[in-house]
Amino acid sequence: MNGSTSRAAQVSMNALGKLFGDKRALDDVSIDVEPGTFLVLLGPSGSGKTTLLRCLAGIERPSNGTITIGGNVVAGPKTFVPPERRGLAMVFQDYALWPHLSVRKNVAYPLATSSLAKSERSKRCDDLLERVGISHLGGRFPNELSGGEQQRVALARALAADVGLILFDEPLSNLDADRREQLRIEIATLTREAGATALYITHDQSEAFALADQIGVLNQGRLVQFDTPENIYRHPTTAFVARFTGVSGEFPVKVLSEKGGSRVVVALPFASSHTIEASSIERLEPHADVSLFVRASGVSLGPPANDEGVRGVIRDVAFNGRGYDHVVDVGEGFSLTKIFAPLRFDRGRNVKVCFDSSACFVMDPTREVSQ
Ligand code: ATP
Repeated sequence: MNGSTSRAAQVSMNALGKLFGDKRALDDVSIDVEPGTFLVLLGPSGSGKTTLLRCLAGIERPSNGTITIGGNVVAGPKTFVPPERRGLAMVFQDYALWPHLSVRKNVAYPLATSSLAKSERSKRCDDLLERVGISHLGGRFPNELSGGEQQRVALARALAADVGLILFDEPLSNLDADRREQLRIEIATLTREAGATALYITHDQSEAFALADQIGVLNQGRLVQFDTPENIYRHPTTAFVARFTGVSGEFPVKVLSEKGGSRVVVALPFASSHTIEASSIERLEPHADVSLFVRASGVSLGPPANDEGVRGVIRDVAFNGRGYDHVVDVGEGFSLTKIFAPLRFDRGRNVKVCFDSSACFVMDPTREVSQ
């Protein structure tokens, strides 16, 4: 969260629902966003992210529930405030710049109605172009820019509006990996500097973890978890959230014993003599059939002579710049993916695989909704 939150809007969605015919695109979604929060809504295709953002923007009318922005009800049973009166700006996936206006005029567009003197408007426009790194492109038209440059113009235009809420609709999805990373950092820092509340939708979990103060995970129109990135990673409340936010492996296991404090001991299906401790969000009786989910951060590799760990064979290794990501076969047809090591373990090599119990959790694999 940012220190300068004087302008930042508080946003509340209460029991929000949206029906398209008999298709329920949003189902009873309630979220309170504190001023200055960078909230990322994460979910697979069709989970309702765009619908929720469009309801907030005023492009779509909710079927049920209310939306409050900065203390004003903007959508409710008897209220519908149009987009231009909601005090928000939006950055779209496809940039949505005015094609007939130069970069400078696109950025200056929201300033046209401001009370600033002409010279101040011009200064603010220069400042914004500078901040998003495109001062040299002010005279060009959108069709003379790359995708990344166009999205920088869109970001500058959103910041120029000087509003308390900025909505981002998958703004990086049309950019290549290199530009995506650079612009992600600009979005994170400039939005926070502006002191606005941000609501950003994406289906990319790494983008969500990198940007968010809070993450809301959507599945089939429902909000299935709302928490900090750290808690979502360390304590997913459903199998869906665990899978969608990335696991190294998922295995069917039986609970051997309960340790108390939400911890259980399970036997690994590929090394039955090897037990590991895992956390559970619900009370589980011994003999319960559940799934063990392992985050990549909780798996490490060592030489085969190590006393600790279970036996594995490297199936694949990929250089990722900082080190190596490995895929390891652990027997009985099971494998673990994305296991990081600073040094390379070659394909076919025998290794020992160690599990850190803090990154292991057991859950009912079919449960999609938290209890
Ligand atoms: P994506 O990441 O693919 O954009 P999303 O999470 O943004 O997906 P939405 O676009 O909000 O999902 O769609 C949610 C559900 O509502 C989907 O099943 C979609 O087919 C449906 N839907 C969205 N808009 C309409 C519409 N105008 N008419 C009918 N159904 C719609």
